[in-house]
Amino acid sequence: MCPAVKPKGLLFIISGPAGAGKGTLRKILFDEFPDLVYSISSTTRPLRNGEEEGVDYHFISMDEFRALVAEGAFLEWAEVHGNFYGTKREDVEKCLERGDDMVLEIDVKGCVNVKKKIPEAIRIFITAPSPEVLYKRLELRGTETKEQMTLRLRNAEDELLCSAEFEHVIVNDCLKTASSELLDLVRSYRSRKCSGGKK
Ligand code: 5GP
Repeated sequence: MCPAVKPKGLLFIISGPAGAGKGTLRKILFDEFPDLVYSISSTTRPLRNGEEEGVDYHFISMDEFRALVAEGAFLEWAEVHGNFYGTKREDVEKCLERGDDMVLEIDVKGCVNVKKKIPEAIRIFITAPSPEVLYKRLELRGTETKEQMTLRLRNAEDELLCSAEFEHVIVNDCLKTASSELLDLVRSYRSRKCSGGKK
């Protein structure tokens, strides 16, 4: 149990190439720690089959996105694979001030920008053992066209180059191993927070 006065919340940022299994690992993380808060991004990307407004994303128009950028509503925003995505500043600040721990799932450019503003953020890079595995997983997912898959894989090369800057890297080869690595890591940060940083 945490002390009566809650310390500031922790900010975990999950990032990595398309096909690495971020979504699956995030689901496992929230099943284990249902009190974590997920930051629902705003995006101009069209809704995919099975996605829900306000659950997966806030799906907004390009004009709405521009207006939010102009009013400084985003902690960070980026163009990723040809669509725009942004994290609302107020959502993150309020959550952390309340003492709740939050998870962002954003691209590597977004990670760089959040880290500049919130240096204590914990970045976790999730990747697959090889580009071939990424490709296979994207094919199996079947949510992208061939062109979109090629673009996502080309972007994966740049994303991999940035992984060295992350606090943690998890190679999702075997899901069981990768998920227990992720759960152990989050558990250990959270228990350190509750003990006031003592090991
Ligand atoms: P997808 O379209 O597959 O849901 O997401 C595409 C990419 O956009 C993923 O790498 C995802 O992590 C990233 N992304 C989602 N939300 C945000 C956000 O708010 N900011 C940034 N910078 N990237 C995001």
